Amino acid sequence: MKRAKIYFQTTPFEGLIKSAYETLRVECQGSLFGRRNPKTLEWFIESILPSQLVDRKPDGVYFINKLAATREEAELIKEKIGEYHSHTMFRKDHAKKVCMSKFDAEMLKQRKDEIEIIIGVKKAKITTLPNNPFLATCYIRNKGNLYRFDIGGYHYSGKLRRAEIIVPEKVIREFGV
Ligand SMILES: [Zn+2]
Repeated sequence: MKRAKIYFQTTPFEGLIKSAYETLRVECQGSLFGRRNPKTLEWFIESILPSQLVDRKPDGVYFINKLAATREEAELIKEKIGEYHSHTMFRKDHAKKVCMSKFDAEMLKQRKDEIEIIIGVKKAKITTLPNNPFLATCYIRNKGNLYRFDIGGYHYSGKLRRAEIIVPEKVIREFGV
């Protein structure tokens, strides 16, 4: 079977990393929009809509009680092609890992022709960029801490499969070191 491919544009990829970073201690979550061609197993992510519990203000990030957008609201925007969420280092299960939990897989199975992006988040000591087509890795340095974000993607065609992640090289360079 042909290998599936997930293509990120620059803005949604940066948005995804910021989404995961802003909610470092809790799982971030949101919807992916763009185009898809299930026959050629290609998904093109053109925008994301975070539905996490933070509000971005000019002077910082604040936790809010209401979700920025519910999944139902997100459905109203056409061409939803998938969802994303993070596996933070503070979780009890699947911490830091780019993998699909049983629950993740079950949910994806029900969403025909959609993808799920998983962001594994952990503290890192050194920056290395692995040469793995199924992972896009980048880093954010803040106040002496270095955080590593591993991004992987999945789709369901008869069974759960990983997809190749393709990100504009300049984005990886920007977040790389
Ligand atoms: Zn998960």
